[in-house]
Amino acid sequence: MGPGPSDVSERVLKALSQPTIGHLDPSFITLMNDIKSLLQYAFQTKNELTIPVSAPGSSGMETCFMNLVEPGDKVLVCINGVFGMRMREVATRAGAQVEALEFEWGEAVDPNAVISALAKNPDINMLAFVHAETSTGVCSDTKTLCQIARSHSCLSIVDAVTSLGGSELKVDEWGVDAIYSGTQKCLSCIPGLSPVSFSPKAVEKIKNRQGKSFSWFLDLNLVMDYWGEGAKRTYHHTAPVNSLYALHEALRILKEEGLEAACARHVLHHKALVAGLEALGIKMLVSEAIRLPQLNTVGIPDGIDDAEVRSSLLKDYDLEIGAGLGKFAGKAWRIGLMGNACNKKNVTYCIASLGAVLNQQGHSCDVEQALKLTEQAYQA
Ligand SMILES: *Cc1c(COP(=O)(O)O)cnc(C)c1O
Repeated sequence: MGPGPSDVSERVLKALSQPTIGHLDPSFITLMNDIKSLLQYAFQTKNELTIPVSAPGSSGMETCFMNLVEPGDKVLVCINGVFGMRMREVATRAGAQVEALEFEWGEAVDPNAVISALAKNPDINMLAFVHAETSTGVCSDTKTLCQIARSHSCLSIVDAVTSLGGSELKVDEWGVDAIYSGTQKCLSCIPGLSPVSFSPKAVEKIKNRQGKSFSWFLDLNLVMDYWGEGAKRTYHHTAPVNSLYALHEALRILKEEGLEAACARHVLHHKALVAGLEALGIKMLVSEAIRLPQLNTVGIPDGIDDAEVRSSLLKDYDLEIGAGLGKFAGKAWRIGLMGNACNKKNVTYCIASLGAVLNQQGHSCDVEQALKLTEQAYQA
């Protein structure tokens, strides 16, 4: 129950262990086509350029910036946590002129602040931000932010590593231009792949670049010779064949459940978890309206040792929760309810074991009462 990698189901592990075949084998090409259409479903898009990049979530971030940024491009990067900071770093390395717009940790990106920043800098042509900030547990209003980007003739670049499969996300309807995710959060697949999707407008910019991308490995103009529609599927790099079996299975599981049902499940268990945590005397650090159900940032009670609690949970209860990151280091825990790990058994177990450890550490709390309130939240 950390911030990822989340639990991988037996079905996905079984798919992973199927015999490795050639990455140009006709039956593998069929699997690639299936993955593309399942990813289009997950992202809610008709974008032709919707593929998994052969490396973890961070490579999706680099794919966006390394392909979209050309010399002279000016990017507004919104920062409300660690992953926004990372976007600024990657955009800068890609050669962009970066304007950073910073927000308090635990707050969402404020659309009005974005509007004034864009008004002040009319030459900005890209807007980048994180949909679900895993370092703080905050959800930003991606629909509104993408509309703002459109009306200022900016391309939008969205980090959806933690949101895909866990929070509502509608790439076409919301007008997202470039988006990247990861397989190890709410998709509950193994780490190591990064689904990305690009709108026709983003693809046009990539195809009409004046110079080549600084990255050879992530250059979509080359990668599309392998993944593209009607492409002759020429070798670029060896596809991670078995990881793609796993992703295929994870996406099928998501489709079987249905996106809406998956999002509703995350909200249901999140609400029960919050009821139990609050009964243990633990404070949620993010206000209710912008909380991510899949990543719960909570304050560490006064006088309680962060590391001791986490190691006791891991050692005595076989339960992992996440440490605070960046400004929240030592001040917060991050309790994940991602994908396959988002279930009643985990919620109940987390409340019981965290309550027991807190009592051992001197923070007295009524575990039975907390479990009762957790159960009540399920009945509500
Ligand atoms: C996990 C995460 C990443 C990075 O993904 P990796 O697979 O670790 O490279 C990027 N952005 C957000 C919001 C994340 O939660």
